[in-house]
Amino acid sequence: MVHIVGAGPGAPDLITVRGKELLERADVIIYAGSLVNPALLDYRKAQCQVYDSAKMTLEEVIAVMAEAELKGKMTVRLHTGDPCIYGAIREQMDELEVRGIPYDVCPGVSSFCGAASALKMEYTLPQVTQSVIITRMAGRTPVPDRESIASFAAHGATMVIFLSTGMLEQLSEELIKGGYLPNTPAAIVYKATWEDEKTINCTVESLGASARRENIKKTALILVGNAVAQNGYERSKLYDPVFSTEYRKGTGDE
Ligand code: SAH
Repeated sequence: MVHIVGAGPGAPDLITVRGKELLERADVIIYAGSLVNPALLDYRKAQCQVYDSAKMTLEEVIAVMAEAELKGKMTVRLHTGDPCIYGAIREQMDELEVRGIPYDVCPGVSSFCGAASALKMEYTLPQVTQSVIITRMAGRTPVPDRESIASFAAHGATMVIFLSTGMLEQLSEELIKGGYLPNTPAAIVYKATWEDEKTINCTVESLGASARRENIKKTALILVGNAVAQNGYERSKLYDPVFSTEYRKGTGDE
């Protein structure tokens, strides 16, 4: 059996309990060496075989899985963050299905959650925004036109932009074209939850200059929107003494 496991954003104790138990039992681990913290491999047993998928093609990954399956071994495919976001897992799962190899998926803490924790930030502030847009700039993988950065920027929601640290000038341009003011709060979070994590507060306009100043070229998330400033919000109704909820009687109803 193959278990596709989310490794979490970086810190080795931010994998789930289930993910850690699977790593401890695995006969074979294929991990995304470009982004997964190698410290997670310390959870493996002595005889476990380890492969770094950063140096492999999809065909090679599947071949390792198929051979392990043939020998009755258990494989963990370790992906950074949560596998459902830019994880390229669908193509793996389809190949496993073709071969009749059983698999399941264990979620992980995505880096966009790790980035919010690094900034001690709530993405969804009442009266500021109630939505988070997760997207990326087009790279080798194209982004459909209807999902352009400018079109998403028009919502004024919180945006979390993956895989785009090398294109920040162009990103700023697109964000401003879409409607964000140049001085809209933004942040760059480099290696969220890793030991060398860096957080930089800046503005939409100064994303490129800020990253250059800190020499950040990859493994970063870009956060954009008024929520990044973490002010100007209204307190929640859920914890307001006046309002009743299913679990608590409020003073307003007395
Ligand atoms: N599945 C992953 C994302 C994989 S795409 C997840 O859920 O987080 C790889 C991109 O994720 C990187 O280019 C970077 O933009 C972002 N990323 C991954 N780990 C990160 C971290 N610890 N800090 C900041 N960004 C990270």
